[in-house]
Amino acid sequence: MSKPKILILGGGYGGIMSAVRLQKELGSDEAEVTLVNKHNYHYQTTWLHENAAGTLHHDKTRIMIDNIIDMNKVNFVQDTVVEIKKDEKRVILENQELTYDYLVIALGSDPETFGIQGLKENAFSIRSINSVRKIREHIDYSFARYNNEGQKDELITIVVGGAGFTGIEFVGELADRVPELCREYDIPREKVRIVNIEAAPTVLPGFDEELVEYAINNLERRGIEFLVNTPIKECNTDGVVLANGEEIKANTIVWTGGVRGNHLVEEAGFETMRGRVKVDKDLRMPGFDYIFVAGDCALIIDEEANRPYPPTAQIAIQQAYTIGRNIKALMNGGKLEEFKPDIKGTVASLGKGEAIGKVGNKKLFGATASAMKKVIDNRYLFLLGGVPMVIKKGKLKLF
Ligand code: FAD
Repeated sequence: MSKPKILILGGGYGGIMSAVRLQKELGSDEAEVTLVNKHNYHYQTTWLHENAAGTLHHDKTRIMIDNIIDMNKVNFVQDTVVEIKKDEKRVILENQELTYDYLVIALGSDPETFGIQGLKENAFSIRSINSVRKIREHIDYSFARYNNEGQKDELITIVVGGAGFTGIEFVGELADRVPELCREYDIPREKVRIVNIEAAPTVLPGFDEELVEYAINNLERRGIEFLVNTPIKECNTDGVVLANGEEIKANTIVWTGGVRGNHLVEEAGFETMRGRVKVDKDLRMPGFDYIFVAGDCALIIDEEANRPYPPTAQIAIQQAYTIGRNIKALMNGGKLEEFKPDIKGTVASLGKGEAIGKVGNKKLFGATASAMKKVIDNRYLFLLGGVPMVIKKGKLKLF
């Protein structure tokens, strides 16, 4: 009898961890596990803002997939998924087709533009190694142009749309990087504008007030301007137009204002909310007993707060553990477990040696929070590849 085929789509937190867990849970004679990913490397999405600002080289953020999974136990296919044919148990890739008995969808997210005119065409987004390399190069080149092209202010104006987690972490890195760029290109620091624009009444909506205040004070002191309660109406080649009609001319616009599930999920005909599937408690796709969804493509409800959990790496990683065990249970006729996120805390970096966060009930600020952020990053590397992975890719200097 042929072995059941398990197909994992996406090699981010949810996908690579599902592959690692299935590799551990199943013997190689039990199933044929295949992982499909666009690139031959896994990247840590949670570090991309550093690469985008140019404060960390992208090679620190990515890990070759053959350094993580045992290629004798998991087939790796480097290709791009173009269509999921759910009723035929087939997946179409750019260069081939694959069939499956069990499917794990972990394709991450797409930017949510909320219908803002011109945003998709004119703003960068922080979503992959390729996209952040472009942002870093673009900012560098804009600064290089400044003294060659009539010192136009817009060349050294950076607009960041969205002051949620990603936006705040990114402007924190820019606050560190911009002084270096100014020295390199002979530009007075006070000429550079970094404007973080948020439609909600506060930055970091949903965060503890004291932490938010610390973040704002810290970032304003380091030259970040905040515009809250200020929706962006339009984005064009000159900059952004705000809902109040004001225009901000900027050569660099980076959108961090929200994500939705990968468009392929919706296009496959699954029912979604902002591209995310409201999964069953055991992380299966409603109506499809053999399809699991992990990470940003999955929507799970925080029953206490009666609203969806924000999509995070923390949840994607935990889901992969449950999916590994549940696929094994399904194959062996066992009982599937319910997924219950164990939210250990949230820490947002504000740049080098600065962060804010909450771990358990404890609020953390400054250097302590920053060290905690590195511990969280290193812990993930440990789960992925043990101590050798932490030594190779970890952030070992905590303070
Ligand atoms: P991803 O990690 O995005 O992985 C998706 C994978 O699918 C990628 O490898 C991609 O290349 C691949 N893929 C996509 N489309 C295709 C295709 N068509 N074919 C083949 N492969 C494809 N969360 C936290 O918990 N803590 C944090 O501190 C935190 N910080 C963040 C900072 C930033 C700057 C950003 C952008 C996000 C942050 N998040 C954080 C959120 C977190 O990164 C996401 O929730 C997490 O990455 C989701 O994991 P995932 O596996 O669903 O998707």
